[in-house]
Amino acid sequence: MIAHEAATPAAEHGAAPTEAAFRAVYGAAPAGIWAAPGRVNLIGEHTDYNDGFVMPLALPHTTIAAVTPRTDGVLRLHSGNAEGGIVELRIDTLRPAPDGDRPAPDGRWAAYPAGVVWAMREAGLPVGGADLHVDSTVPTGAGLSSSAALEVVTALALNDLYALGLTPQRLARLTQRAENAFVGVPCGIMDQTAAACCTAGHALFLDTRDLRSRQVPFDVAAQGLRLLVVDTRVKHELGDGAYAERRAGCERGARALGVPALRDVPHAQLADALATLPDTPDMPDTRALVRHIVTENHRVEEVVAHLDAGDIRAIGPLLTAGHASLRDDFAISCAELDLAVDTALAAGAVGARMTGGGFGGSAIVLVDEAAADTVSAAVTAAFAAAGHAAPRIFTAVPGPGARRLA
Ligand code: ADP
Ligand code: MG
Repeated sequence: MIAHEAATPAAEHGAAPTEAAFRAVYGAAPAGIWAAPGRVNLIGEHTDYNDGFVMPLALPHTTIAAVTPRTDGVLRLHSGNAEGGIVELRIDTLRPAPDGDRPAPDGRWAAYPAGVVWAMREAGLPVGGADLHVDSTVPTGAGLSSSAALEVVTALALNDLYALGLTPQRLARLTQRAENAFVGVPCGIMDQTAAACCTAGHALFLDTRDLRSRQVPFDVAAQGLRLLVVDTRVKHELGDGAYAERRAGCERGARALGVPALRDVPHAQLADALATLPDTPDMPDTRALVRHIVTENHRVEEVVAHLDAGDIRAIGPLLTAGHASLRDDFAISCAELDLAVDTALAAGAVGARMTGGGFGGSAIVLVDEAAADTVSAAVTAAFAAAGHAAPRIFTAVPGPGARRLA
């Protein structure tokens, strides 16, 4: 059970409380303290399993881990955000979840850090046991990637403690493998790369085919703007099956078009590509899935061009177009996300879209600094009027990626 769910999640928390908590749990000082952030994706949704482009930025909200290595092959895991006390495992008995056996949403949190140890050992890396305690300000299950923050902070700590010398990209691949194969969640590579590679003040333009990336300056405040995150606090259950269906549909589209991945369909040839797809009653509709992925990759490139030109305001309509594409073509929005986006735009936002996997989670809203409070109030009021739980709204300032704190 995830214990704390603040109304407005505070971002800042230093190393000291986590160090103190580690001492209280394990009775000794940790060998070190590390942090890894949650993230929001500015643009590039569902493109990461199509070898496409994404553009996440790190949140100031972080997961902090205090860790000490052990020589006896025991792994002890404790979280200040989960009930149930210390989870104790032996690293030589770690086994992936059987196919289809997804973790309960809050029951098996230890699978995330344990999966990292498993993935590193499976890759032949000389990792031993550890005592680990984490504290996090990343809202869980809100589409802000608390799972990747937990995995990456674990991997970075082990990388340092066992002197593995791995690059951030390698840590991202290993932690994705942990989540895919050990925890059993078929996520793409974006979340772990964001947690491992983002830098303060930037969005990360990432090519998920080869993990080449570029830090693109994203100082919204300097242009009189603000990026709001609206956590709808809902997660509709059809999410997992729908993700698998869309993933399969994208692969079906790529096969029908004779390309390795939908990333290989140039935007200029989209109309031709759609015309060549056979008329089959696929659910979800393959044409619509292809159109979303190809236009979304193009939107990422357009956003990058505007940011390179120093014009953040110009990305607003692209964010909004991205929402329409996710709602209408990819069909993964929901009433709460649409309400957040529509209300924000009606109240004067520069652009808005759902972010993350869909069917709940969070939306992002780009807004003039002067209009931020009005827009936030309008969204909160609209949720109340519709009978939804109050959303959690906070400002996203791009923070640093995973790092050692002490
Ligand atoms: P998201 O990554 O969008 O937050 P996920 O469903 O992928 O949502 O991951 C959320 C899960 O990750 C939680 O249910 C919990 O099992 C685990 N988790 C993340 N952070 C922590 C933490 N600090 N302590 C314990 N478990 C955590
Ligand atoms: Mg996750």
